[in-house]
Amino acid sequence: MAGYANIIIDISHEKLDKTFQYKVPKDLEEKLFPGVQVAVPFGNGNRSTRGYVVELTDKAEFEESRMKEIGAIEEESVPVEAKLIALAAWIRKQYGGTMIQALKTVLPVKQKAKQKEKRTLHLAVSAKEGARQLEIFQKKRHTARVRLLEALLKEKRIPYEVVTGKLNITASVVRALEELGLVKVEREQAFRNPLPDRIENGTNVLLNPAQQHIVTEIGRELSAGTPGTYLIHGVTGSGKTAVYIELIRQAVNRGKQAIVLIPEIALTYQTVIRFYQRFGERVSILNSRMSAGERYDQFLRAKSGSLDVMIGPRSALFTPFSNLGLIIIDEEHETSYKSETVPRYHARETAKERARMAGAGLVLGSATPSLESYARAKAGEYRLFELKERVEERPMPECEIIDLREELKKGNRSILSGRLQELMEDRLKKGQQIMLFLNRRGVSGFVSCRACGHVFQCPHCDVSLSQHNNGKLVCHYCGHEEPSLKVCPECGSKYVSGFKAGTQKIEELVKKRFPAARVLRMDFDTTRNKEGHEKILSAFANQEADILVGTQMIVKGHDFPNVTLVGILAADLSLHTSDYHGAERTFQLLTQAAGRAGRGTTKGQVVIQTYSPDHYSIQLAARQDYTGFFAQEMAYRSMMKYPPVWHMLVMLVASKDSMYGALCAELLGKKVAQAAEKGKITGLSMLGPADAAVAKVNDIYKKVIYFKHEDYGMLVRIKDALEEFISHHKEFLSVTVQFDFNPMNGF
Ligand code: ADP
Ligand code: ZN
Ligand code: ZN
Repeated sequence: MAGYANIIIDISHEKLDKTFQYKVPKDLEEKLFPGVQVAVPFGNGNRSTRGYVVELTDKAEFEESRMKEIGAIEEESVPVEAKLIALAAWIRKQYGGTMIQALKTVLPVKQKAKQKEKRTLHLAVSAKEGARQLEIFQKKRHTARVRLLEALLKEKRIPYEVVTGKLNITASVVRALEELGLVKVEREQAFRNPLPDRIENGTNVLLNPAQQHIVTEIGRELSAGTPGTYLIHGVTGSGKTAVYIELIRQAVNRGKQAIVLIPEIALTYQTVIRFYQRFGERVSILNSRMSAGERYDQFLRAKSGSLDVMIGPRSALFTPFSNLGLIIIDEEHETSYKSETVPRYHARETAKERARMAGAGLVLGSATPSLESYARAKAGEYRLFELKERVEERPMPECEIIDLREELKKGNRSILSGRLQELMEDRLKKGQQIMLFLNRRGVSGFVSCRACGHVFQCPHCDVSLSQHNNGKLVCHYCGHEEPSLKVCPECGSKYVSGFKAGTQKIEELVKKRFPAARVLRMDFDTTRNKEGHEKILSAFANQEADILVGTQMIVKGHDFPNVTLVGILAADLSLHTSDYHGAERTFQLLTQAAGRAGRGTTKGQVVIQTYSPDHYSIQLAARQDYTGFFAQEMAYRSMMKYPPVWHMLVMLVASKDSMYGALCAELLGKKVAQAAEKGKITGLSMLGPADAAVAKVNDIYKKVIYFKHEDYGMLVRIKDALEEFISHHKEFLSVTVQFDFNPMNGF
């Protein structure tokens, strides 16, 4: 039984770390949980002060005899902060970490930077009374007061800067007149607004019957007060955004607010402008390029009721709307929705919880839904809607697979296949645009044979082995190691290596091959400065270039109607990852990239170059067959006990001392193994300890253990037990232990 409660008094404080511990009175034991507002005696005078319960615990932080007791529960209205604190508690429970870390995630932390405040002075009394006072000041020769009063009698309202500047009146004089009740200072917070000042009006699209059907169905449940979770599986260019906008409009008309999550790389001017056109000043955005102060301002605007819609990446989920009606997650399969720092929450799952608490609806949308969401939709947990065709009967692109092994046989060692070069030539002649896509994602240290396509894989885990500096090939799940070979064991060829070409090299190659073409490159290097991303995209949209070469950044967020050819240079790059997502990522990237072709009226063409032309993810992406891919990939996940069929928990132990860290990891692993032996846990599968994918960073050594179980709840209990064990043993003080559920990239 939790005997103590940690209470936070001032949630607008810069430091959320400041909690105070109180005793829980017997009669309140059952009624307290994180987020509940309570009255507590505070400070030396024990003044009754309002606070929020953030955590209940049985661990006293100081002597019990000196601890004060909670007074009462404040029941009146439940502010949005209370709900966000409850959400923080849920996040902590689901994903591990401390309550403070969770609170910092959900509550906007006030910035030290001063709020910009617009102040205006005006006369607080009648002109007659003002004139009477003026005379008094004149007699007393209070010249500064005279100056101010005279000015205010002439002009009704004067900005504060003018008073202290041009009129040369000090703050203390203003204060004196304010205290006398003669002047009033109006304070208006000037929020920084990230929107462009003027927005041209857009034309509203008329929804087609397929779009209208979705709006009607979801709209009916939302307005009936029975919101659910919905998955819109719509091919690229099927008009999902138009559906979101209409659903939001209806929610706003009912007095509700909406949050729209969009991956940061897709959060472009072209996307956002569509929302501005509809909701004008009542919409705002968040992105990582904004300063902390600007971001905080947007949260305040939301809280004060001057916004209806917030658009942004993951963190926008915590916008403090008090009457939230709808959450939309576009591109719901994106890995960026999972936090890579503690707490490692998934925005999709967390959105579901926030929606539940608020009584809001949750709409997920994608051309390539995550296996998790699609499986749930098929199981009836989510309502599934399909948009199978592009708007206005625009055709889907035609895909062709090119076998790079054949190119090598023909003596073509360039990254551009003969077929792709031929098609590029044709498009350049026609004045149409081309996108070349290199799906480099994360560190893929896989090694393959360019002659036969053989990839070195772990015999136990069915994931690609990664090349290490010591020349060995290593599996990041189970730790399996083997020496790397110079010759292919399948075909005897010497073309065995990792894949090295980057976008820059490809840009050079393309320029050499097509000297007359104008080439733009978009990757991490060319988008590093604030507007780089946007500039390149709009230059390409304005047809200032013929060819755009880029990483996965180029596959989202923009419509390029003049692009009729998309070349995917090495589809294998995302296939051979050191985790189980390879096929899924590949299918998603190929589908998204292909979706860039033929957004206008001319049919698009896609060339997929690969060393594994027979791989199902590549075959099915070329055929745009999502359901076929889903079936095959689920069978693989089920066989290998990978999510979403099973769940995975990875525990990371990081230490400065490699031996000690390894020892701790082993000890924690044994702890769980013993519980399993005693029959306390059944059906658990455990892998490791093994070196983490990046085993040593800044002289910190990292070990991982993977736990797999069919029941997510069981993994949460294992995490709880381990956290509890760690907190009671000081041996773990010098190591860092972190947890990650259903990891996206692993540690
Ligand atoms: P998705 O998000 O599914 O890729 P979008 O919502 O971006 O699709 O729509 C693709 C394009 O089609 C956009 O330019 C959009 O303005 C347009 N569009 C959407 N719905 C319609 C419609 N009903 N009629 C005509 N054009 C539409
Ligand atoms: Zn080979
Ligand atoms: Zn393995």
